[in-house]
Amino acid sequence: MNKSQLQQHDREHLLHPFTDFHDLGNQGTRVITSAEGAYITDIDGHKMLDGMSGLWCCNLGYSRREISEAIYEQLNKLPFYNSFFQCTTVPSIELADMLAEVTPAGMNNVFFTGSGSEANDTNLRIIRRYWDLKEQPEKRIVISRKNAYHGSTIGGASLGGMSGMHKQFQSLDYIEHIQQPYWFGEGGDMSPEEFGVHAARCLDEKIQELGPEKVAAFIAEPIQGAGGVIIPPETYWPEIKKVLDQYDILLVMDEVIFGFGRTGEWFGADYYGMKPDLMTFAKAVTNGYFPLGGTMVSDRVAEVIKSKGGEFTHGYTYSAHPAACMAGIATLNILREEKIIETVRDTTGPYLAKRWAELADHPIVGEARTLGLVGALELVKDKNSRARFDDDCTAGGVCRDMSIKNGLVMRATGDTMIIAPPLILTIEQIDELVEKAHRALDDTARAMA
Ligand SMILES: *Cc1c(COP(=O)(O)O)cnc(C)c1O
Repeated sequence: MNKSQLQQHDREHLLHPFTDFHDLGNQGTRVITSAEGAYITDIDGHKMLDGMSGLWCCNLGYSRREISEAIYEQLNKLPFYNSFFQCTTVPSIELADMLAEVTPAGMNNVFFTGSGSEANDTNLRIIRRYWDLKEQPEKRIVISRKNAYHGSTIGGASLGGMSGMHKQFQSLDYIEHIQQPYWFGEGGDMSPEEFGVHAARCLDEKIQELGPEKVAAFIAEPIQGAGGVIIPPETYWPEIKKVLDQYDILLVMDEVIFGFGRTGEWFGADYYGMKPDLMTFAKAVTNGYFPLGGTMVSDRVAEVIKSKGGEFTHGYTYSAHPAACMAGIATLNILREEKIIETVRDTTGPYLAKRWAELADHPIVGEARTLGLVGALELVKDKNSRARFDDDCTAGGVCRDMSIKNGLVMRATGDTMIIAPPLILTIEQIDELVEKAHRALDDTARAMA
């Protein structure tokens, strides 16, 4: 099939995720056909630096044969066996061991799933099981944050705080949402430090309002990813820690994006010095080569659910799929052997921070922020008032299209441009990324004038 035939069949038979089917039908899809290193190429031969690592998952880029070969060998040896009914497979045990090593101290158990959404559903099941076994069944409510993203199953979407999603389904009734720590958008006249404390105190207020005896857990991404790379003010996590220390409430950190090195530490929990009870992971654990997710379970929780009798009536056919686990093992080996995370922390992260900050001087940029290898740009019409171009956030979409034209994949979340490039990016590729982003900003400024 040629390009237009592919687009036509796509339109006729494929329902895409998070897509306006009507718009897509008019525009046609961009057909991606190959990839190498940090670059993807479409059917027209247009090569782009992938500033989003696929969908935050291909952190080692696209050319890692060690991973594809590990999957292939496993598929030929034992393509599938389940972990139900007292059975197990060698790759699942080995990956569980490795995860216990690389995750924060005191997290030594893993429950495997097929995705991040499933893992958050699993968290809801574990949280309830834990409090039931602790004979505190009244602890049921889970507090999350507005504009959080925790996946797209009913459980994941209920935990998430995206208003557009909540309009289209019925949320679980035991989930509550508090303010997000988004200083640029919601900080008003407060300094970032003041606002960070304020946003964290919202958790305390919510717990008081609901009654601490009714609150089971608080879930949060270390940094909100899909919500627009919202890096909380430095005061936020320390204050959250103070609040949680006062109450007997589980902390769930959703590390689906920030796990496996994006901050320059193994996990966001390491970066912020937090001690979660449960930690969701997915995406980069296999470098995007095979679907796999899971939740790391702390000793505190694992001891309760393991030592008390009775079956935990939960699991997925593909929990601990052997080929997925082999992909995970190969990915973790590369991260360790090539010191990828140390390089992000010591070299490429600081260099991106320096170069990205230059974009803040651009007339349509209200803020440029980075941490490790993520970044965001706030597009504004007026720098001082932080006013956007229009209520529909059209500048973001324009900038994304301009960026792609210039050979860089950036994503738009409203009028916030975000990047999460592969962790293997070189200094030269960071220069290329910043130059292409700069050109996209120039083109956007012209188009919006
Ligand atoms: C992507 C994402 C999820 C959902 O993972 P899926 O594999 O798409 O189900 C959950 N949490 C966060 C923070 C994510 O970014």
